Amino acid sequence: MSDVVKGIFKPYVVVLRHVFMRPHTLKYPYERLEFAERYRGRIVLNLDKCTGCGFCERICPNKAITLVQREFKGRKKRSPSLDYGRCAFCGLCVDVCPFKALKTTQIVELSTCNREGLIHAPEKMAEEPSLEEVVKDLKKILEVELTPNTVKYRVKRRVRR
Ligand code: SF4
Ligand code: SF4
Repeated sequence: MSDVVKGIFKPYVVVLRHVFMRPHTLKYPYERLEFAERYRGRIVLNLDKCTGCGFCERICPNKAITLVQREFKGRKKRSPSLDYGRCAFCGLCVDVCPFKALKTTQIVELSTCNREGLIHAPEKMAEEPSLEEVVKDLKKILEVELTPNTVKYRVKRRVRR
């Protein structure tokens, strides 16, 4: 077969091969991967544990954390407020907190329509919504299996509403 004829048929062969392959992409927001246990997504604050020591504010390389004064259980207290417009998700604030008041989650859905929405006050930081609450159309949570040549997804959990 001449190179010209091969060149004509090659795209069809490639397309046909891919027709029978499983897709590598997910149907987000209906499907979503389960991330690694220690994935650094949205940071959640435990207001009961936080003492307002300010270590998290001091260590943050991007100045994303500011301690703000607020009333908590009838007394004034300083607690962190986090600006996701500045946060690099390095996790230093979580690691440095001596009272384990901060933790990372798998939630990466943080976009908002305005800049102010990216700033989470202590009360908002204390909220820990589930994936189902954040991704309203979510139906399946998948886990991934990677081999040198393939990507496979397995349904880990179906979301019931
Ligand atoms: S979150 Fe931790 S490091 Fe930050 S102010 Fe509270 S106790 Fe201190
Ligand atoms: S994860 Fe890093 S950048 Fe984000 S608030 Fe914490 S210390 Fe700052």
